[in-house]
Amino acid sequence: MLKIDNLTAEIDGKTILNGLTLDINAGEIHAIMGPNGAGKSTLAYVLGGRPGYEVTGGSVSFQGKDLLDLEPHERAALGLFLGFQYPVEIPGVSNVQFLRESLNSQRKARGEDPLSGGEFLKLAKEKAALLRMDMEMLKRQVNVGFSGGEKKRAEMVQMGILDPKFAVLDETDSGLDIDALRIVGDGINSIMRKPDRAVLLITHYQRLLEYVKPDYVHVLANGRIVKTGGAGLAHQLESEGYETVVQEEAA
Ligand code: ADP
Ligand code: MG
Ligand code: MG
Repeated sequence: MLKIDNLTAEIDGKTILNGLTLDINAGEIHAIMGPNGAGKSTLAYVLGGRPGYEVTGGSVSFQGKDLLDLEPHERAALGLFLGFQYPVEIPGVSNVQFLRESLNSQRKARGEDPLSGGEFLKLAKEKAALLRMDMEMLKRQVNVGFSGGEKKRAEMVQMGILDPKFAVLDETDSGLDIDALRIVGDGINSIMRKPDRAVLLITHYQRLLEYVKPDYVHVLANGRIVKTGGAGLAHQLESEGYETVVQEEAA
């Protein structure tokens, strides 16, 4: 589904990704863990096509298409979803307006008819319930005055509505208390744990991985994947620390 080959990328002339190779098949959940500053968020931004991140080498194909050749909205219409560490606030726009507009613009790009107001509300209610979110909250302005946990849950409602093929979730667990962590974890599983979907979960801690069990865990350090293992690797990282694991690998 997603094939990243020897990717290098820089910000402001500084190389951040340095030969990153990663293959993700449909039906798989991959976790990327790594120390602060390793380039995890940079990878998410490069996949999303954020301006300012310059790809200097390598390739990324998504469902057989050259991802790097596409505009961010084209990537989204193809079924790529990005969840961010720091969701943005959009004063003056309600969640319902924002979500309906996002969905319908993606449907339009795919040549599908837009959902009517009624059809959309039915879908939104279903996905909000999955994340235990009150519809009243979805009528409020996007993320304005939301707690950290509410922002993440709203983002997962968005993911449920857009129904992507592939989700890159950057530190979706940051700022979540135990209950919100379980709700968000269950949400990710029910939306994305399917044979034709895949997820790249970027996380600093293994606690989210207790709820969303990864098929593979990768360690990102110095801009590339330095180690790959199963779910057990996350526990090893938590108990031994990144430094030990990364040094072992370099030795
Ligand atoms: P992680 O998500 O793994 O903590 P990031 O991808 O956010 O790491 O950052 C990787 C490196 O890129 C860090 O050294 C960071 O300081 C640097 N970096 C990130 N954004 C910028 C920027 N806009 N300009 C210069 N350096 C940046
Ligand atoms: Mg960081
Ligand atoms: Mg980050």
